[in-house]
Amino acid sequence: MTGSRYHGLMTGPITPGQRLRQSANLLNGTTLLGLLLAKCARTSVCTGPRGLLIATDYRWRLPFARAFTVGNVVLFRAHAPEALSSPELLGHEERHSSQYAWCLGLPFLPLYFIAAGWSLLRTGNPGSANVFERMAGLEAGGYVDRRHPGTGRRGTDSRRTGSAANNGIEA
Ligand SMILES: [Zn+2]
Repeated sequence: MTGSRYHGLMTGPITPGQRLRQSANLLNGTTLLGLLLAKCARTSVCTGPRGLLIATDYRWRLPFARAFTVGNVVLFRAHAPEALSSPELLGHEERHSSQYAWCLGLPFLPLYFIAAGWSLLRTGNPGSANVFERMAGLEAGGYVDRRHPGTGRRGTDSRRTGSAANNGIEA
């Protein structure tokens, strides 16, 4: 977020709840961690709506995701116009940002990975039975709800872990 690579976009008034989330994730260090990651990965960072920071053009291989969130920073592989063209995905990532605040910051990460591992064992997919993804909205995140019969296509469906990047799944 230095020089011309930092610019404001889609900012506006934020609610007291969004301000609280912003302050919590600043104090617990996860937003700074997200900005450090964004800087190391040489993304473009801009201020987004509802107190979020939007990092675009993320190119590192991991995680296998179209977008992911660290604190109040939402990192997208896409360019800015494309990244911000999906309010559903941004809304999904925003809920993860709130989850960071509820988990007091860094504890979110191990809790998330435990939940993803549990989901993988139960459904063969890191999102379907992952409580964090379910609360953030499976469909908005690009996941298939495999816990309900008829919604997945097990056996013929190649949407398994490892191919998530190809399927546009976020984290
Ligand atoms: Zn998610």
